[in-house]
Amino acid sequence: MLLLLRLLGLLAPIALTVRFLLLPDLAPALSGTVGSDRVVLDSLAFLTGVGITSLVVSLIIGRRLGRLSRGAERIVQGDYEVRLPVGRGAVEARLARSLNTIAEHLSETYSAATTDKLTQVANRPTVLAELFDEVERANRYERPLTVAFVDIDHFKSVNDTYGHHAGDIVLRHVAELLRTNIRATDRIGRYGGEEFILILTETEAQEAAGLAEKLRMLVMRERIDIEAGAPVGVTISIGVAGGIGKAVRFDTIVRDADAAMFSAKNLGRNQTYVFAEPDEDSRIPRAPVSAEGRESAIEIGRAARAAAEGLLHSVIRPLPHYRGKPSELIAEVATTMARNLDLPQAEIDRIRVASLLHDVGKVAIPSQILDKPAPLTNAEWQAVVQHPRVGQLILEHAGSLRDAVPIILHHHERYGGDGYPYGLRGQDIPLGARIVAVADAYDAMMHDRPYKMAMGHLRAIAELRRHAGRQFDPRLVELFCDLFSSGVIGFAYDGDRMRDEAEPGGSRRTGPPRASGRTRRAASG
Ligand code: GH3
Ligand code: MG
Ligand code: MG
Repeated sequence: MLLLLRLLGLLAPIALTVRFLLLPDLAPALSGTVGSDRVVLDSLAFLTGVGITSLVVSLIIGRRLGRLSRGAERIVQGDYEVRLPVGRGAVEARLARSLNTIAEHLSETYSAATTDKLTQVANRPTVLAELFDEVERANRYERPLTVAFVDIDHFKSVNDTYGHHAGDIVLRHVAELLRTNIRATDRIGRYGGEEFILILTETEAQEAAGLAEKLRMLVMRERIDIEAGAPVGVTISIGVAGGIGKAVRFDTIVRDADAAMFSAKNLGRNQTYVFAEPDEDSRIPRAPVSAEGRESAIEIGRAARAAAEGLLHSVIRPLPHYRGKPSELIAEVATTMARNLDLPQAEIDRIRVASLLHDVGKVAIPSQILDKPAPLTNAEWQAVVQHPRVGQLILEHAGSLRDAVPIILHHHERYGGDGYPYGLRGQDIPLGARIVAVADAYDAMMHDRPYKMAMGHLRAIAELRRHAGRQFDPRLVELFCDLFSSGVIGFAYDGDRMRDEAEPGGSRRTGPPRASGRTRRAASG
């Protein structure tokens, strides 16, 4: 159509050319009345008119269609956010509206196909496709690239304790926290159930580990509202693997980050682990704890749980029935029902403990309210209905022993890497474990042992300093010494021991504590 108009548009110059070049003598005939000349002249005028009109029309249509076709081309190229202005012409407006609707539908379909519905981050195929592109880019331009694997710790127990709906809320919240706290150039995707993958472009593994640690701390500090009940907290374990240029390979980078995450889990969870080749990393002994060790550990663990349970019982046992006294009848009925439903033993145990402690939260309700023989006021009722949530808080705090696992596991690691059980080195050792190592060593030196006599405070300090960097984190040894000399630590310490200082010329601390510059810095940091 447009072509036809443009061809017709050629008629104007052709007609004018014929008029002035081939028939120059027609001019005088204008005033004459010769019939054939008149016909030729009229025809040329007609052709010129048609030609000019066609040209003008083709230019207008071309301009309008051009805008629409450029928009359509952008949609074809994958820009689904394009929206065309709806012009005045009826056909043009319909076309623009149709193209806009197509773009909207494509945008929705694309986002449904590439986004994880629950967490609204990229789904697995999409994030892996992005990773594939980034690996290519790193290879071609010799750039660094790192992948971090994030897995929520003990997530199954979140589902088991609070239900799948709450689990979904936690999952969504963690995804949102990660998504909004990575850099603009990083990418995040949901790799599996409670696992996320981060693509950290232009980043080497060590730098990525720093970023990962920030995310881990952020998640650990977060309290997530699960609608019903008190907010819950979760921790994450992160595995990091990266490389530069050709050393980055799509198949190995994902596998290595996954292996590093597995190591982080093995090392006690709630930590970041950077992948290292197995031969240079004999740090993760796969050998399980000996059978006897495991058995006695489980036994002691059970005893610890029984002790905690016993202690809670002892608090509520003397109370009257209506104030939370554990009821053997309830426990008997509940466990018998659970057993009859063929529930697993662990679940039966859980139900037994819960049935005994279900009203433990009532200890926080003033006795005047629980003992009141008359109907409760609104405010009193508000206090009563809090007891299940108070119970939750009590048990959560009793169960938070588990948070100490990474510190206990690594308190014998040495800063130089030759400690046990995993031979972790430097900052790889959790900070809490490095702190406990200094405090533990100081305490050991200050007390008699069957095989060694105690040494004085100054000698112990000198010993810590001598082994700073090799056995202890040097910054922590300095901090410890500063805190001691400023009196922040040591006031409560056994005075006799301080007097026993046998060091000739050794200075004894006297007078009120002074805060050193370092101590203040540490305290304010
Ligand atoms: P670990 O610290 O070893 O990672 O322990 P874990 O309990 O987190 O790991 P495990 O692999 O045993 O359990 C993962 C759980 O994640 C099991 C599954 O029910 C839960 N899960 C996976 N996808 C979803 C989901 O979309 N919603 C909810 N609510 N739970 C999910
Ligand atoms: Mg998992
Ligand atoms: Mg998990």
